[in-house]
This record gives sequence, structure tokens and C-alpha cells, in this order.
Amino acid sequence: MNLTSHLGETAKKYFNKPAYIFNDSSSTYAELDGAVTKFASSLEKLGIKKGDHIALVLGNSPHFVIGLYGALRLGATVIPINPIYTPDEIGYIVNNGDVRAIIMLDLLVPMFEKMNPLIPKVETIIVCETPQGTSIGVDPKKLSIYPKLKSFSELVGAGDLGFVGPELDDEDVAVILYTSGTTGKPKGAMLSHKNLYSNARDIAEYLKMSDRDKVITTLPMFHVFCLSVALNAPLLSGATIIIDPKFSPKEIFRITKEYGATVFAGVPTMYNFLLQYPEGNPEDVKTLRLCISGGAAMPVALLKGFEQKFNVLVSEGYGLSEASPVTCFNPLDRPRKAGSIGTSIVNVENKVIDENGEELPVGQVGELIVRGPNVMKGYYKLPEETAATIRDGWLYTGDLAKMDEEGYFYIVDRKKDMIIVGGYNVYPREVEEVLYNHPAVVEVAVLGVPDPNQGEIVQCYAVVNDKSLTEESLISYCREHLAKYKIPSKIEFLEELPKNTTGKILRRALKDKILQQ
Ligand code: AMP
Repeated sequence: MNLTSHLGETAKKYFNKPAYIFNDSSSTYAELDGAVTKFASSLEKLGIKKGDHIALVLGNSPHFVIGLYGALRLGATVIPINPIYTPDEIGYIVNNGDVRAIIMLDLLVPMFEKMNPLIPKVETIIVCETPQGTSIGVDPKKLSIYPKLKSFSELVGAGDLGFVGPELDDEDVAVILYTSGTTGKPKGAMLSHKNLYSNARDIAEYLKMSDRDKVITTLPMFHVFCLSVALNAPLLSGATIIIDPKFSPKEIFRITKEYGATVFAGVPTMYNFLLQYPEGNPEDVKTLRLCISGGAAMPVALLKGFEQKFNVLVSEGYGLSEASPVTCFNPLDRPRKAGSIGTSIVNVENKVIDENGEELPVGQVGELIVRGPNVMKGYYKLPEETAATIRDGWLYTGDLAKMDEEGYFYIVDRKKDMIIVGGYNVYPREVEEVLYNHPAVVEVAVLGVPDPNQGEIVQCYAVVNDKSLTEESLISYCREHLAKYKIPSKIEFLEELPKNTTGKILRRALKDKILQQ
């Protein structure tokens, strides 16, 4: 079984049930599966074959879902790309990923016209007419890339419902996810059909997703967290996804109330926005049975504040692109532990090891390594990087973690983000957790900066909701809760913190800013 054949089975069972809701109209499983088949057949007529690479440069929309499942049904490999990337960033991935066809928003056509000479391997550009998009604003026939352009809706319309795709091997590469990479160029994590299917299935089982669920899909679909947790897992379960192209608290409260959503998946910054939203009414979200957090550390104060205000369980999980992505989640049939990423999900092993690769006892901090059917095949065209990341079948996550006696894991920090002050280890997350407990702190990022005496010192950036709060009083607050060497030497107040499109706070962007000063 793989994602696309499973969709066919789900469509037989739930043919009349809405698979997705978008822009306040819905489409059934039978319609979705039919569109997927027809799109796959049209791709084949365009000369695209099993094993070819297709980039999806799209926001959250039905086009993404049909494009993804259609390309997979044909046996092609999909490379999702963030549509707000610059031409250089997109061009790099398209070339490095040997992309033959691109499915993209109509709004991007003018940009691709300019990029055309830089991406010579691309033979076909499939344009999606998005409801929120404008027309491409120019007569396509006047574009030099005109022969390459095809219309997404025409391809779906002209497709053949009787199309039968090729046999797919579990080990064939289904998607290549270019991870942002903190240094150097992004690397393409190759996930097989088995990787993607097993993780979606195991998440669905662990989080008890069913055909009764209505899942809000507002995280970006091009990111693996959304792809597996808020798209593939619900579609495997016969649930309905409510596709939201742009996160805003107002819209989340509206769609939850309007459609009776049962599951919300978001990154911690989204929870922060929802909690701070003045018109956030617990009555509007009373149908939610589960809120899923992942992608970055969920501050305990935020988790508890959210649960209390909205009377809904928040379950934190953990994952990374290279693991398709989920390895741990707080289980639903045992207590959820605030601050913990939960226990290993079905079929996946997690282990904490020391510098010599030895497993550490309960409570000790070391690197988290992971093994299971979800671990990627490797990085595209980077055998050395692959060998450094996957050793003896274990994926080295680069995250520091510890485990308690009940098998719950806790992410301490990224290995690379650890600060060493005069020989002592400081985990930024620990300092951030303390600051989040201060009633005036809305968001915070702690990082290390070079210091001639101590090696590094702790520095902090905070967004606060009380203009009278001083740096000195916040530092004194830290003194009450933290050992001396962990106290920030400096706290700077900002209007907002830099974040990536998934909503993760970019500590490193702040650090680069300091280093440039
Ligand atoms: P990505 O490959 O973009 O999904 O990023 C994966 C990284 O996000 C992991 O290696 C972690 O550093 C971080 N991450 C994901 N989930 C959590 C979590 N619950 N707590 C702390 N860090 C997390």
C-alpha cells in the first residue's frame, strides 16, 4: 500500500463524504480521487513518466492535493517548494532536484518567465488558476515560455478516468524535501513511498484519527509537518480536511465554529497568536478534541494557558523532515506531559546517546537518534552527507534530548544552539521557558554571542505586552529562577521576532544580526 492507492481505497469506502473543504465549498472523496486519476493521466500524455521529478510551488489549495497525489499515482517524484522563495532559491532547488515539470501558482508566471534561461531542464509549467490569485496579467502568448505553459484545470478536465498508473515500489522515492539547512545550500531529503505512507498511517493510529474528524490544514502543505500530520494522515482516515491558505486567528475561530473542526495542528507561534487574540471565544472552538503542536518547542506556560482558556487537550509531538517527519507524540490514552514530546509512536524507536554512541540512562542529556520505516533513504546526490546522518540504520537528529522513566522524551535543544558560558552548558530553551512564565512576555529567543572572557554569553530578544517593563526587571526575574551563568547579559525588546514561513522563530537570524553589528 502507498498513499495514492490508499486514497483510491478510501474513495471506495467514503465516496460521498467530503475529502476537503476549501473557500467554503467541499469536494467528495470520489471527486478528489477522480481528479487525481485524471491529472495523472494528463501528466502521462505530456510525456512525464515514472521516476520524473515534478516541483509543486503552491500554497495550501486543492491544486496541491491533486498535484501531489496525481504525480504520485503516475510514479513521479514530487518536490514541494515554498512559493514565497526568491527566484534564486527556487532555481537552486529546481536545478539541483533535476525537475522536469513545475506546477505553480498563476501569480508566479512572470517570475518564471525571467528565470526560464536559468532552469533549462524544465519542459512543462502547469499553471493553477487560484481563486485568490490574479490572472497572470500578461497575454501568455507573448511570453517566451508560452509553449511550456499548461493549464492545471484543463489537464484535470481532459484526463482519463480509466487511467491505471504503474506499479509503485515501496522503496521508490515519493518526495524530495529540501530542508532549509542552517548553513550552506538546502539538502534534499528523499522520502520513499514506504516512508511517507508508514508515517501518515502511524500518526493516524497514534492520534486516533477517524472519518469523524475534521482537520484544519493551515500549516503550509509544502512543509513535512503539514504534509504528514494535517494532510496525509487525515486523508488515510477518511477525515475531512479544511484547507486554510493563510493562517489568521480570526479565520481559525471562524472555520472551527462553522464546520465543527475536531483537530487543529499548528506550530507554537500559532498557539501564541490564538491565545493572544482578543476575540478568541472558547465557545467557538468547543468541537475541537485535539490540538497538535510540533515543529518547534512548545513553551509550557503557553501550552497550559491555551489548554486552560480553550478547554482542549494540546498534544506536543516531534519530528524532522528526514523522518517523514514524526518520531514522538504525547499519547492520547496516557497522560500528556507538558514540556515533553511524548513517547515513540508506533513502529518508531527513539534513543538518547552519548558522544561515543552509547545509550544514556534515564534523565541524562545526549543526542536523539531514531530508527524506523519513516527514516529517509538519504539526501539527494549527497552520499557523504547521508552517511554522516544515517549510521547503522539510525538517523542522527542533531537534537539534544533526555528520556524519563516512563519513556517520555524531552527535547533540550538543538545541539548547535547550545551555549557554552565559561565552560558551563546553557540550553537556550531552559532560559526561554523561564521567560515565558513572566506575564508580560509574549515571545522570546535566547542565544549565545561570542565573549572574550567567557567564550560565549547569553543574550535575549523579547516581545512584551507591557511597555513599562524594563530590561533590568526582566533580568532580576531571571535571577530568581536561574543559576548565575544562565542569566542573560542583555535583553533587547523587539516589536516582533523573525520567523520562517512555518512560524518557527529564527534564533539564527537574530544571531547573524548581532554578529554583523
Ligand atoms: P524540519 O526538518 O524543518 O521539520 O525541522 C526539524 C527540527 O525542528 C528538529 O530537528 C527540531 O530541532 C525541531 N523540532 C521539531 N519539533 C520540535 C519540538 N516539539 N520541540 C523542539 N524542537 C522541535
